[in-house]
Amino acid sequence: MVAAWTTPANAGSPHILGERAAAAISGARADVAKLIASAPSEIVFTSSATEANNLAMLGVADWAVETQNPRRRIVVSAVEHKAVLEPAHRLKKLGFDVVVAPVDYSGVIDLSALRVLVDSNTLLISIMVANNETGVLQPLSDVVAIARANGALIHCDGAQAAGKIPLDVVELDIDYLSLSSHKMYGPVGVGGLYVSAAAPPPRPIQFGGGQQNSIRPGTEPVPLIVGFGAAASLACSKLSADAKHGDELALRLLAKLQERQAPCRRTTNGAPVLPGTLSLSALGVDADDLVSLLQTKVCFSTGSACTSGQVLSSHVLLAMGMTQMEARTVFRIYCNRYTTENDIDIAADEIAKALLRARLASGRSRQ
Ligand code: PLP
Repeated sequence: MVAAWTTPANAGSPHILGERAAAAISGARADVAKLIASAPSEIVFTSSATEANNLAMLGVADWAVETQNPRRRIVVSAVEHKAVLEPAHRLKKLGFDVVVAPVDYSGVIDLSALRVLVDSNTLLISIMVANNETGVLQPLSDVVAIARANGALIHCDGAQAAGKIPLDVVELDIDYLSLSSHKMYGPVGVGGLYVSAAAPPPRPIQFGGGQQNSIRPGTEPVPLIVGFGAAASLACSKLSADAKHGDELALRLLAKLQERQAPCRRTTNGAPVLPGTLSLSALGVDADDLVSLLQTKVCFSTGSACTSGQVLSSHVLLAMGMTQMEARTVFRIYCNRYTTENDIDIAADEIAKALLRARLASGRSRQ
């Protein structure tokens, strides 16, 4: 990234610096492609996973209109990120038949409901690989089977999962996959969309100089793309070590809370989750109060970070059947590549103390 920043160049320029920039971009494209087992030519760089989701959904809808494809149904799950729900909302306004598939009490998509919702009018299903609040992994092979049986296209929001669990787009047999660099320790401001060579290319949602086959025009931010490539390459080599590390720390935290008489319930129950993710409910405790009490000591959150600051309970937890009151008891912790055992011990200690205090204050626990 430093090299690309100190010698800035436009990858479209017809001279040596431009050629170097273009070569740096194609190296990064190959690294990102390798992470998900796609061909480099199937990666379109964007500014974020938000943009990738918008491009996939609005772009496929536009493709259908332009090619007079009669399918008008779009199916999304109730626990999608706003970066999927909002473009879906936009498509509804434009006349598409947008339907929302429910999840069960652990946050896993209800496959029997999905089977009913997906029909021969379904153009696109958009289901996330892993949820950003709970870490729950969706049963993608079942979802893909439902899509294929009905001739629907399938887009997956892989922002949270890519770089954390193995993803092979050919094996998964999906059409589009959104990626975010900063979710895999890369720079913020860059993401990508995998577009299968076998799928219709989404129509662009912005228009300009024709870069990236005009699917996503705009001068490529070389340093950010290079950083994304490096992050993808590192993630490839650290995938299993990172996963083991994250899971061990998550279990350590749970055990420490238990030891200190501050047990918490995993909201995901036994569902498979992304390594290192914990979504916990502390009965009788307002999680927002807990997070603000420990604000300077422990970095953790309640609702999605992208929507925190809003007073509404998380739509993910409500979709899992929680009441507003139950949803307010939930906090989430991510044990990442750089989190240490010592960090976890300190966090467990602080959280346990705060939980005990909060429970005593609410009269739920006696010393
Ligand atoms: N999708 C999911 C599942 C996310 O968790 C996020 C970010 O939190 C996004 C999309 C948006 O990603 P970006 O920040 O790259 O726009």
